[in-house]
Amino acid sequence: MAVLGRDEIINYLNGGNDDGLYSAADSLREENFGREVYLRAIVEFSNVCNKKCNYCGLRAANSKVSRYRMDVADIIESANLAAEAGARTIVLQSGDDFSYSPDRIEEIISGIKGAHDVAVTLSLGDRSAAEYEHWFKCGADRCLLKLETTNPDIYGKIRCGEDFHKRLELLRSLQDIGYEVGSGIIVGLPDYTVEQLVDDLLFLSDLGLDMIAAGPFIPHPDTPFSSAAAGDIDLSFRFTALARLLNPFSNIPATSALDSFDPEGREKGLQRGCNVIMPSVTPVSKRGNYNIYPGKNAVSVDVADSVSRAEELICALDFVVSASKGSSRRMNNVE
Ligand code: SAH
Ligand code: SF4
Repeated sequence: MAVLGRDEIINYLNGGNDDGLYSAADSLREENFGREVYLRAIVEFSNVCNKKCNYCGLRAANSKVSRYRMDVADIIESANLAAEAGARTIVLQSGDDFSYSPDRIEEIISGIKGAHDVAVTLSLGDRSAAEYEHWFKCGADRCLLKLETTNPDIYGKIRCGEDFHKRLELLRSLQDIGYEVGSGIIVGLPDYTVEQLVDDLLFLSDLGLDMIAAGPFIPHPDTPFSSAAAGDIDLSFRFTALARLLNPFSNIPATSALDSFDPEGREKGLQRGCNVIMPSVTPVSKRGNYNIYPGKNAVSVDVADSVSRAEELICALDFVVSASKGSSRRMNNVE
């Protein structure tokens, strides 16, 4: 593991040596992943949410969202189309929508895994550890649960009084259950400091994560943070590049939020240490309403087009779409 001191990290985050940072992150990615990029297809199957996160357009109090819930058959069909188009990982994501019972989620997992040799990632928010354990036994492989910040006070403020330690406890339970686990933060939340981002980086790196996701904050007009400043895209690139230096084998996505700032945001991410692309394969009739932040899913394309556009993006940079499921290399290679 690269050893980076706190002062050095602060200097990088402040833009002290972008060229050096990005080329070191790119070399390390190349060393560990070669030209392979993992493509994870996301089915955003419900935008109903019982939470009140101040940063997110899907928060329960936002009455301007046109809410949808996909049924089990449609979710499986979207996943299958993505798998047929070449995706080897299906990410199931939703608001914290508890109307999907453990049995229904099980049906979805079994339906997808029964039809295709793919990995299934769950990004369902604060469901119980017992539910996640059940879904692991049903064949789910991975979980994505972002801490959003690693500061308990900020966490309470941005997630309307919720308890950071409960989220962390759930994350650790997911690791104990045996999942490959991803987490991360939003870069540039209101009142962030560079010192806090250093804490976030070190905290996340200590967790031994299989995946680390960090994208810039984008203010949503129908949330309490509507007038907050947007995150800084350069800070976001620096954060993920540093995450690569501290976590050589973890999977690190170039998030779609990057594209809201720069049409080539994801491409730049892939050239600065990231090794994963996560196209949305949510059906055209629904995807525009998965409005976590403005600009999300702005392009209206069907499942196969969405996967092929991501493949084109990868190939245009002389990367190759990995034929593997892209399971965690961290587990096998580090420590
Ligand atoms: N309900 C689940 C998963 C869906 S939210 C959960 O909260 O865990 C998916 C991710 O969108 C969140 O983890 C958060 O990091 C990101 N997100 C939400 N609002 C955002 C915003 N305004 N800017 C940037 N990212 C945002
Ligand atoms: Fe709901 Fe997740 Fe958005 Fe919070 S971040 S409001 S839990 S969808």
